[in-house]
Amino acid sequence: MTDSNNKEGNHRSIAFGEKALGYIKYNQSSATPEAYELWFNYACGLKPELNEKIKELLSQSPRLSQEKLDELYDIYFLKDDVGERMEEIGSKVSHELNDIMDMVGSSLSNTESYSESLEVFTSELADIKDEGSLRMIISSMASATFEMAQNTKELEGNLARSKDQISQLTTSIEAIRTESLTDALTNIANRKKFDFTMQKECDYFKAERDPMCLLLADIDHFKTFNDTHGHQTGDQVLRLVAAILKQNVKGRDLAARYGGEEFAVVLPQTSLHDAMVVAEQIRQAVANKELVKKSTGTKLGRVTLSIGVAEINDGDTIDSLIARADQCLYAAKADGRNNVKSETDLEPEQGDGSAQDNNAA
Ligand code: GH3
Ligand code: MG
Ligand code: MG
Repeated sequence: MTDSNNKEGNHRSIAFGEKALGYIKYNQSSATPEAYELWFNYACGLKPELNEKIKELLSQSPRLSQEKLDELYDIYFLKDDVGERMEEIGSKVSHELNDIMDMVGSSLSNTESYSESLEVFTSELADIKDEGSLRMIISSMASATFEMAQNTKELEGNLARSKDQISQLTTSIEAIRTESLTDALTNIANRKKFDFTMQKECDYFKAERDPMCLLLADIDHFKTFNDTHGHQTGDQVLRLVAAILKQNVKGRDLAARYGGEEFAVVLPQTSLHDAMVVAEQIRQAVANKELVKKSTGTKLGRVTLSIGVAEINDGDTIDSLIARADQCLYAAKADGRNNVKSETDLEPEQGDGSAQDNNAA
């Protein structure tokens, strides 16, 4: 890049920076680095969705409250930055590895010079003449050995610190990975994790021929529940249903939030008969749970689930298996809800795996 290009770029950044400060002042937001980052991005138009959202909010009210700004920051700068955080950790790990290599390198050269000194001492010992020179050689050997021991100790300390750093970074990577595959509301696997697992288990089925089943569950009349008791109470119910699903699966099985008030359970190495048993257990556990509003102790009645169960077959793709489980779910809804249907309950012409509208209602 030429100097004039550089200058032009700098001028532009300064102009955007000034704009960002203007927005901070106008909205009376706190002048934090986060606020600056948000408004600077807005000024440059780096995140079109953020700009759309801000424009929409500004059309409703002339200024954005601090609370709204914090919310926007969380959405557009914290939750979206898994890649960036991974990159940051990656660069820290590579930094640590470089340090380790340097340490090992310098330790090797220390060891080499120590062994060279030993060789010199050995040859000097061969033609030793008097007690004085013997004492000198011994004392030189002692100090070289002491220095070597010191170096080794220092290296051990540094290596131990690096090992701690790397294991902390590994833990952070694990945490970020888990977070990116977990549904924030219900704390069970999210759709992305479900997609990965389906791919893995379908491949496993093709290789090993072990049966594999899929359950799709949908809360009955949940819209009415939300309308009656409020969305936040509805959220609590989603958490409860998720917890019940998790309690009823084990080992390699996966319970996931498929979307909205729909859940999926992947059951590898499970026959259709056994999958029906699991589905029935889940249905009963949810139906038997009396809901109580935590904050007031008010009884809210119960919610029920309709569940569709399908078993993978040779001709299946992931989509056709999901579509068949969805048809079974549709059949469970059609048959009065709060029940479980498998593909053996489908009318013959329905069991052809053709896709249906995902919304079973
Ligand atoms: P059906 O028995 O046919 O499934 O009826 P339904 O009312 O459950 O189905 P519908 O598809 O009409 O409505 C789904 C409802 O699920 C509407 C929506 O408010 C609610 N819902 C979806 N996601 C969430 C969420 O994250 N939290 C809460 N509280 N409700 C949600
Ligand atoms: Mg529903
Ligand atoms: Mg639904």
